Amino acid sequence: MDLNKPIEIVHDVFWVGAVIPEDQFQCHVYLIKNGDESILIDPGSRITYDITKKKIEQVVKLKDIKYLICHHQDPDIVGCIDQLIEDSGKKEKYIVTHWRAWALLKHCNWDVKLYEVEENGWKLKAGDRLLKFIFTPYMHFPGAICTYDTETKVLFSSDIFGGFTPEFELFAKSAEDYFEKLKPFHEHYMPSNSILRNGLSNIEKYDIELIAPQHGSIIKKEFIKPIIERMKNLECGLFGKFTNTRDVIKLSKLNDVLEEIIQIIAYQERFYKVIGKFMDSLRQFYNIDSIKAFVTNIDETEILELNSEKTAITSIKDDNKLKQMIEASSYIKNGAIFFKPSQLHTIFGVEDPSYTFPIKAKDGRFYGVCFIVFNPDDFNVYMDLEILSKFEIPISMAILAERKEYCTSNRIIQLHEEAVRDPLTGLFNRRYMNLLAEMEFKKTKRYSHPLSVLMIDIDHFKNINDKYGHKVGDLVLKHVAQEIKNHIRSSDIPIRYGGEEFVIILPNTTKDSAFTLAERIRNHIEATPILVDGAEIRCTVSIGISSMDDCPETFEELVNNSDKKMYLAKQSGRNRTVA
Ligand code: GH3
Ligand code: MG
Ligand code: MG
Repeated sequence: MDLNKPIEIVHDVFWVGAVIPEDQFQCHVYLIKNGDESILIDPGSRITYDITKKKIEQVVKLKDIKYLICHHQDPDIVGCIDQLIEDSGKKEKYIVTHWRAWALLKHCNWDVKLYEVEENGWKLKAGDRLLKFIFTPYMHFPGAICTYDTETKVLFSSDIFGGFTPEFELFAKSAEDYFEKLKPFHEHYMPSNSILRNGLSNIEKYDIELIAPQHGSIIKKEFIKPIIERMKNLECGLFGKFTNTRDVIKLSKLNDVLEEIIQIIAYQERFYKVIGKFMDSLRQFYNIDSIKAFVTNIDETEILELNSEKTAITSIKDDNKLKQMIEASSYIKNGAIFFKPSQLHTIFGVEDPSYTFPIKAKDGRFYGVCFIVFNPDDFNVYMDLEILSKFEIPISMAILAERKEYCTSNRIIQLHEEAVRDPLTGLFNRRYMNLLAEMEFKKTKRYSHPLSVLMIDIDHFKNINDKYGHKVGDLVLKHVAQEIKNHIRSSDIPIRYGGEEFVIILPNTTKDSAFTLAERIRNHIEATPILVDGAEIRCTVSIGISSMDDCPETFEELVNNSDKKMYLAKQSGRNRTVA
């Protein structure tokens, strides 16, 4: 394809535009060869005119162009008309447009006649050729139109179906590829999706072979439907959403990220997934280091750190930091932004500059801060504050959801612990034993595994209480519990069975091994004095052992057997083990 020559896109329809170097916003001019009633569509700018003129002259004489269709009144379409009229001699010419464009174009005071589409039933009969005009209001400005050539079924669409093409591409390569080029253009310029849909639905009524837009690339028939379907779901109005940034393609991509993140959150995905996605996307544009958030827990007793570099929350138990963070809330809670190291950076040891924002709930309550940490050399970030601010709410939502999840599951674990543990010794309580024991017992019976139980009772404990007081008695209980913990395996289950009585369930343990363990515990307790206020308190224990060898029918029977053995130990002099 020789872009230096007119290119016949369908029979008698020529592309006569000029390639503007390094411009992703090319402007196309089309010519319909139609004898002395030839038609030029969107004649073009003054900077491309000389090339366009030469190309036109290779197809028709300038004076044979009778109609100049101007889809709108911008300089990229009408800039050359003055010169064109002058160059083509005195021959009569018509500007074909709609009344809103003419209301402005009349000020050019050209030596032309007006062919107003509304006045002519939205049609133009040029010789044998019938052109129709399709009303696509607000798809560029109030009176926007497209032109449909009934003979070739080409739609000259002006801005609609325009796109950004970093490399000049006269024809779109595929629906997918061209949609990506068209997308930022429409998201940005089209004020709303309903306007876009309205225009598209007017266009869809026509049988179209080829779309020839003023910008972007020409779309072949097979790509038209898939492109229109995709366009219907475009989010429009980004120009209004982001007022400062000119990089339309970047805005479009970032807007996609934003949408995606909101979706992920809406589907209740976890923070680490949201943040991973966000980091990956942002790294296309910025030299981003990490995202760190510091929030209070539900009781406001500690700080929780959520960090994109880690896979789980870390809790920071530092009252001073907590106090400082809550104090700092007074200057960040209204949305202050710090790039340079601030007081908050110091508190949390964040060294690089960051986009820092408060994490707030809908009611404005302050929960903490989030740092989007950047490489200090990345100046792009400084330009794009407005974009980053759009991410505050979805990121905050993800953080608060994760915090809630973390605090709730922690509370559940805590409640569970409280329900199954004896608060004094930290051993399991009897309720837990009963819950667990039947299960363990059945399993043992089914697989004929060994299982033993130790019943441990402190000797003359009443005397300790009487002599030293209840508090010291409690210390002794704790001491014995600790001795038990020190000697058992992680699969053994230690229980505070009663006041000064302990049970240890020993899965997969024979009576002999249980005896060895019992003696080890008993000897150790006997040998280890408890130091209270300088005094040495000694105590001993009596231990009874039972196992599956005694063929108990229930777990209760197994425990009762060990209790009986423990009594035998008491009767035979205490400080001993009876199996
Ligand atoms: P024996 O050698 O026959 O077991 O004598 P003993 O004194 O250890 O047995 P007894 O059953 O007569 O006394 C147990 C004492 O344990 C009675 C009770 O006041 C005390 N006790 C029970 N629970 C606690 C507790 O939580 N803390 C303290 N300090 N004492 C407790
Ligand atoms: Mg007792
Ligand atoms: Mg006792």
